[in-house]
Amino acid sequence: MAVLSIVALTVPAMVVPAVVGAILAAFASGIGFQRRTLGARRDLERERSRASLLEAKLDSQRNAVDLLAEGLEIAVFLCDARPIILYANRKATEMFKFENPVGRTMLAVTLSYDLESLVTACAQTREKQHAELTFAYPDERTALAEAWMEPEGDRVFLSLYETTDLRRLERVRTDFVANVSHELRTPLTTIRAMAETLQDEPGNRELLDRYLAKIIAEVDRLSLIANDLLILSAAESNPVRKHGCNIAEVFRSVVQQLGPKAHDKGLKLEFTGPSDLVIEANQAQMSQVAINLVDNAINYTSEGSVEVVVQPEGDQVVIMVRDTGMGIASEHLPRIFERFYRVDKGRSRSTGGTGLGLSIIKHIVEAHGGQVNVQSALNQGSTFFIRLPVGHASEPEISEA
Ligand code: ADP
Repeated sequence: MAVLSIVALTVPAMVVPAVVGAILAAFASGIGFQRRTLGARRDLERERSRASLLEAKLDSQRNAVDLLAEGLEIAVFLCDARPIILYANRKATEMFKFENPVGRTMLAVTLSYDLESLVTACAQTREKQHAELTFAYPDERTALAEAWMEPEGDRVFLSLYETTDLRRLERVRTDFVANVSHELRTPLTTIRAMAETLQDEPGNRELLDRYLAKIIAEVDRLSLIANDLLILSAAESNPVRKHGCNIAEVFRSVVQQLGPKAHDKGLKLEFTGPSDLVIEANQAQMSQVAINLVDNAINYTSEGSVEVVVQPEGDQVVIMVRDTGMGIASEHLPRIFERFYRVDKGRSRSTGGTGLGLSIIKHIVEAHGGQVNVQSALNQGSTFFIRLPVGHASEPEISEA
């Protein structure tokens, strides 16, 4: 106001409104400027918060991709054309037991010229490359390797899908088929040779009686093998149907059933255990386990005793079958649960063994979530231990279809 009154004293009256107007206009434009600045600031703030939202979204997507890559059971590498590793996921570092592969060459980390050539070929041709490779380091493994280029860039993506277990299973299967064929061919060859001899000498009564008895024995052997193969195959392919199974009763009745056989060999056969011990298990399969274990103990013991103990231990049941027989030398122990593995083929044959008994036991016990172990030394007897979870034991099973 002071400014206005001085101006009023010195300036003619008509000039005053123009000056005031100008001042007010200046004020008004100042306010407009201030408003515009405020608006721009608000826009800026809005953009900023949108940008930080986008950044957070991008971060969470990046985290999800990282988590995905880290969780994969496939090894994933990203590398440049040389090829130097730019990224490796968890499986990749585990597979080659290399702590921090980033910045190293593919060859230094994997020690595989084949893998290095595959990646280089992909970078040079820009075409997808794939091959099944064998790695010698750090353990022997096989994997399906696939390399492809970044669509508009120079980086190479590489995935390795491990096939070690798959190939091992294939080998086990082919070995198994070869073993079965061999096991079947041996008695079949014997039967054929005897039948041919009898055909050549039709009048020889003594030979006829002797060979017919052998032919019947070989046919029985074939039936035993076929039977054990069916049991093994059923145990492998069907999920276990568990019910309340009185495991103590199962072993007690098998001991009773095999009592006469032990008695004939002059062996003492004893059972120790509670009268009732119900676990969640398949009763028919448990009977099979009991028969195979106790029968083996009797077969491979020429004097002394066979002792069967069933006892609860926490949330498990421990079954022990101890004999005073021939025992098993330490070099055979790791293999006796393999299909058709026998320490002494001749002895196994003479006792009617098929070489499948222990693998059936192992399969059934493991399918029930249990474990089977053996302690043995040559000429000092053997003890087989089975541990089974009690499970949510329900009502005892009434009958097994
Ligand atoms: P088999 O039908 O030949 O008995 P198994 O699979 O039951 O086949 O057993 C595999 C091999 O383990 C047997 O051939 C035998 O050499 C050995 N074995 C199993 N149980 C005993 C035992 N209680 N004492 C000594 N050797 C045993």
